Amino acid sequence: MIKRAQGNKDLTDAIDEIIKGRVKTTIKVVRNANDVLIGQYDTSSIDIGDIEKFPEEPGPGFSEAEALLHEVYEFWFKKKHNLPNTIVDNSAGYNLAHGLAIKKDELFDGWRRGMYERVDGGLNVIEVVEWLKGDQQAIETIRHQNLNIVEVKVKVSDPK
Ligand SMILES: [Zn+2]
Repeated sequence: MIKRAQGNKDLTDAIDEIIKGRVKTTIKVVRNANDVLIGQYDTSSIDIGDIEKFPEEPGPGFSEAEALLHEVYEFWFKKKHNLPNTIVDNSAGYNLAHGLAIKKDELFDGWRRGMYERVDGGLNVIEVVEWLKGDQQAIETIRHQNLNIVEVKVKVSDPK
């Protein structure tokens, strides 16, 4: 179940921007595909099996809704601005859409993205995502096997 956050105007605005943006885009939804790691930018695909591995409740790390909006926002923004369909490191392409989607992540729960590291072993990938809120830090570890999420762990450090 995807829960819609309540009482957060910035988040509601972000969702409205997509709904009212009059941009028609097609998103391919797959389940447990081994060519989609959560969301695949170049093919505008979302693996709903991966999305469901995140918790329902907002908090440090991705929630289901947060991960879903991140991907939808990226694909919508790519279509709206006719960005290239590639994941090359390009400030006018993927990096721009992804960077803006990252800013939306914070709207769900106040946890903002810090560093990101991806340990790539072919079909087995480990993503390490840092989240920050006030003086708190959380490290989210997302483990994929055959590009499907098998484990999500979040460790919150106590404020110093
Ligand atoms: Zn992204």
